[in-house]
Amino acid sequence: MGGVAALSILPADMIQSSPMEATEYSVTTPQEPLPAHGQTGLPLLVEGCQQLGIPLTATAVAAFERYYQELVTWNQRLNLTTIVAYDEVQTKHFLDSLVSLPLLAEELGAPLPLPTLRLLDVGAGAGFPGIPLKLVTPALQLTLMDGTQKKIAFLEHLIRTLELSATKPVHGRAEELGRTTAHRAQYDVVTARAVAPLATLVEYVLPLVRLGGLAVLYKGPSAPEEFMEARRAIKVMGGETVRLAPVTVPFLAERRFILLVKKIAATPAQYPRGQGLARKRPLV
Ligand code: SAM
Repeated sequence: MGGVAALSILPADMIQSSPMEATEYSVTTPQEPLPAHGQTGLPLLVEGCQQLGIPLTATAVAAFERYYQELVTWNQRLNLTTIVAYDEVQTKHFLDSLVSLPLLAEELGAPLPLPTLRLLDVGAGAGFPGIPLKLVTPALQLTLMDGTQKKIAFLEHLIRTLELSATKPVHGRAEELGRTTAHRAQYDVVTARAVAPLATLVEYVLPLVRLGGLAVLYKGPSAPEEFMEARRAIKVMGGETVRLAPVTVPFLAERRFILLVKKIAATPAQYPRGQGLARKRPLV
């Protein structure tokens, strides 16, 4: 990703006026101070969404901007992510989270923005991909699950600050909550990014998907090999692979894949296994 690409799409309102004009203007209309990083407008996110065919409202852009600020501020004490640069958060977090949406829309046969769906994000961490998906799909009923309390504290703060409707954090491990009636087979769509190797991940995720629903799993360059290993676990959990799609995240060169798995049979009662077995002894 080059600075040239970013510069060529700077919105007109980022062009500074002369000091005289600024002074005169501020008498009647006080300007918001620029954030410390000195950039606004999320130009890469805006251009990237256009490339992906994802509608992005002004309200959503403002919410993403606030999300960036909160992420960077909380990161100083909570160590939520190593990616904090303005350009990189737009590409590696926001656009990377959104890249599955066109595929999901195609599979559901629904236009964007998607209609109401119960979507669970397993291992949401600082909110990826769940919160970006919610910001461009306001009708989503979003649950953000994570096993680490400090991530849940950040997500609670974010939900309040961004005033997200129908969004709730849940503290706990997927392999435990996947055995409870409150969560097992309760979700139309379950997402996960950077949570576990695929053979383990499908045991975490597929029990939570309702019959006929979808798992949307984000993977890097190792996806084809991980997929070969995970085929048995997908079948055992009641899943059927719809597609393993290579995807291009705007402004990123790295290879990414989205694995879509449909739930075609109920997950047998003994899964997910407890005591770390999904991780220690995946069903390869
Ligand atoms: N999905 C986010 C992202 O892409 O930026 C966070 C990724 S972070 C590397 C992995 C997160 O998954 C951590 O917040 C961790 O607490 C959570 N996690 C790992 N295993 C989990 C499990 N079995 N159940 C719930 N959360 C889990």
